[in-house]
Amino acid sequence: MSYTNKVLQETMEKNPHQPEFHQALSEILSTIQPFVDANPQYERAGILERLVEPERQIMFRVPWVDDSGSVRVNRGFRVQYNSAIGPFKGGLRFHPSVNLSIIKFLGFEQIFKNSLTGLPMGGGKGGSDFDPKGKSDNEIMRFCQSFITELYRHIGGDTDVPAGDIGVGGREIGYMFGQYKRLTGLHTAAVTGRGICYGGSLVRKEATGYGLIYITEECLNSRNSTLKGKTAVISGSGNVSIYAAEKAASLGAKVVAMSDSGGYVYDKNGINLDVIKQIKEVERARISEYAKRVKTAAYKSGSTLIWDVKCDVALPCATQNELDGAAAKKLIANGVKLVAEGANMPASDEAAKLFIEQGVLFLPGKAANAGGVAVSGLEMAQSGQRCFWSFEQADKMLKEIMVNIFKTIDKRAQENCAKDNFVFGANIAGFIKVAEAMLLQGAV
Ligand code: NDP
Repeated sequence: MSYTNKVLQETMEKNPHQPEFHQALSEILSTIQPFVDANPQYERAGILERLVEPERQIMFRVPWVDDSGSVRVNRGFRVQYNSAIGPFKGGLRFHPSVNLSIIKFLGFEQIFKNSLTGLPMGGGKGGSDFDPKGKSDNEIMRFCQSFITELYRHIGGDTDVPAGDIGVGGREIGYMFGQYKRLTGLHTAAVTGRGICYGGSLVRKEATGYGLIYITEECLNSRNSTLKGKTAVISGSGNVSIYAAEKAASLGAKVVAMSDSGGYVYDKNGINLDVIKQIKEVERARISEYAKRVKTAAYKSGSTLIWDVKCDVALPCATQNELDGAAAKKLIANGVKLVAEGANMPASDEAAKLFIEQGVLFLPGKAANAGGVAVSGLEMAQSGQRCFWSFEQADKMLKEIMVNIFKTIDKRAQENCAKDNFVFGANIAGFIKVAEAMLLQGAV
């Protein structure tokens, strides 16, 4: 059995009942296998055994008081996966589905994503099974304060820097940063995605969505095409989806469908983003509202049915495994040309394989959605230098980073005779830098 397969099998046996973690692990290890097995220095140095084992995993109780005065308890997580190239860095997710398997899959992916940005950031992830939906502002604040009252001792600007993810946006980051500052007395970049008036970076809010479109456009341009005039379908209607839709429309694409966990809206005239922002960012209401307000739109319940909508470009931006093999077949039959993952691992293994086999340009999340963490890295840099960059400056850097990521993964794929297999290109490119840093730092 090859070194890579041995580590894969042992890690799965050692971590049973963690399907999402197994999925991410097997996707990455199986693609880097030929490269790792051809370079025996990795085995001698135990690189894979060290890479698959988080440096530290923290699980903790988060008690908080709801508006009726009752005490509730949730579970908090922070997995500090790998700090070979920089402080741990990765978002916090608040969603009832959160468990150790999901946090580990996200943390493992984050190592390679952060490596691809070219910035000095290690990989980590965290969150809680707390459900922010339907909670009052005060409940959210009390929860965030309690969460940080435990987590603060494990994070810091040079150690571990959390940010947002599903269920964690500017409001939650504000409450967590406030509590961190109160407990430590430090006004450092211990959390990113902060408000512009207290250390945040312009473009952070837009970064993941804009970055997704920058890499999509670069990929199309490299194949003599462009987003202009293309029809796009974007799942979700949260932070990533909204700003992906905004940038796609500004480059001349027509976004005809968006969704939430309840269903999707189709608007043949192109989705009116002002209406979506009002519903989702201001009112925090359901996307079905859109069809009540816009005459040309129709709502269908069942979020995964969004993949039945015919499009040139499909951007899954909601959650893991939201696009399965059947959905991929539908998209392919309808002539999709490019699929780029705004969410983390939204395409199932089967779906990703189908896209690659059928010649659909497929950009994996660790490359395609790296814009968010990249601008978080820029936020850390601005905090360190006590400076503040304009929207244009930060946006230009984001674009350069995304273009560079595409060039890197494209080149790595071609060099290894895997033309257009960007999953392969991203995994190899992300791995090489981290493994090199680990080799240079000795057996730690
Ligand atoms: P948000 O919480 O802002 O939005 C999530 C969106 O996805 C909501 O519209 C939500 O709908 C929808 N959704 C959740 N579960 C499902 C489901 N099962 N089916 C369909 N829709 C669903 O999160 P983000 O936009 O920040 O994150 C989205 C994805 O992007 C995640 O995978 C995240 O890890 C990834 N990502 C985010 C980054 C960031 O900077 N924010 C950076 C890199 C990756 P509802 O309101 O009904 O729950």
